[in-house]
Amino acid sequence: MAKIIRAVGHSPISRQYTASAIFANIFHNGPITQREISRTAGLSFATVTSVVSGLEKKGIIRRSDESSTNGGRPAALYKCNSTYRYVMGIEARKDELLFIVSDLGGDVLSQKRTAFDKKIGKDGFLTLLVQGAKEQIDLFKGKEAKFLGIGVGAAGLVNPNDGSVAILTHLSNWGSVPVKQILEEEVGLKVFVHNLAAAAVLGESWYGLGRGRQNFLYLSVTDGVGGGIVINGRLYTGASGTAGEFGHITVDDHGPVCTCGNIGCLETFISIPAIIESARKSLVDGVSSAIQEIAGGPLSTITFTTLIEAAKREDKLAYKLFTDVGRYLGEGVVSLVNLLNPELIIIGGDLVRAGSLILDPVKDVLKRQALEVARKSVEIDFSELGGSASALGSLVPLIEEFVASPLLD
Ligand SMILES: [Zn+2]
Repeated sequence: MAKIIRAVGHSPISRQYTASAIFANIFHNGPITQREISRTAGLSFATVTSVVSGLEKKGIIRRSDESSTNGGRPAALYKCNSTYRYVMGIEARKDELLFIVSDLGGDVLSQKRTAFDKKIGKDGFLTLLVQGAKEQIDLFKGKEAKFLGIGVGAAGLVNPNDGSVAILTHLSNWGSVPVKQILEEEVGLKVFVHNLAAAAVLGESWYGLGRGRQNFLYLSVTDGVGGGIVINGRLYTGASGTAGEFGHITVDDHGPVCTCGNIGCLETFISIPAIIESARKSLVDGVSSAIQEIAGGPLSTITFTTLIEAAKREDKLAYKLFTDVGRYLGEGVVSLVNLLNPELIIIGGDLVRAGSLILDPVKDVLKRQALEVARKSVEIDFSELGGSASALGSLVPLIEEFVASPLLD
């Protein structure tokens, strides 16, 4: 390693910088030839050859099976050796923990969901968190040293200074939850903690539909409505970090009271609990429907899955519920399109399971109400990350840090 470093620069910082620039090129653009790296990174061919050789010896990069025949002699193509290091991502929701282990390429090697009841309290929650993380590492016996760290995406307000979660949504009586501190002490790995929505945006941006996109919005609809705004390739967080709270756009001045204290917020119409509540209310009012029969029990047994099933069987009430949700969501989307002119809107969260029942009415409203120029340049689609966007996104900063200093690790 010392030899490589001497060959590429004069001060330790510039050497590391050079190695990092070359590795970043291979990581993001590989498979790539040394000639192409030299051109795109603006470094001499000799420097590139020297660093590439060092990175290859350490096993951080490897030669691709193919070679480039672009313009004459075949040249070796290099790419990141994804399995060189592992990272863990944890998604902490109000009633569930999702643990994933991925390699540097975002390929998920293992995953586990653990449901919990808020009655377990803060200490019970932290115990589950630590146990779950340790369990994942135990699955990789003998390879524990490969773990770069743990990224956590938590539902709540994250204190960026100490990685504690000030309010884990719906568990406000827990106070501050020292997620980072406990995990670092108990598991012995470096821990980054992010807000759930911000983590999901990173996940979409690296591994999902947001790849290569500079201006996009991510909207997540599950128990609440959250999301993020990416402008010029960067997450826009706003003056105090609350940007992307799409759920509190007013869509009906006479609507229900929202948890934020306002009236008729988007969230009060399109969150999953709101949709289920609306179905129950209609049934109590005597609207004829097969929903209850499909649920097979009292009103309390109706779930989101019941409603999807009913709509698929062309139940009029279920169908109307989804059309209404799509319409409200569409109105919110129109405001966002007119205001921000994004190239893409990604919808994630459990609402995705309703598929075209939701997406069609959203597109209808968009077509009718959005400004023409903005509408013509926007695509709208469902996330393809299957509910793991936040877990995947939460580990991105660990990979970014590794890419920035591959020879220091
Ligand atoms: Zn609200």
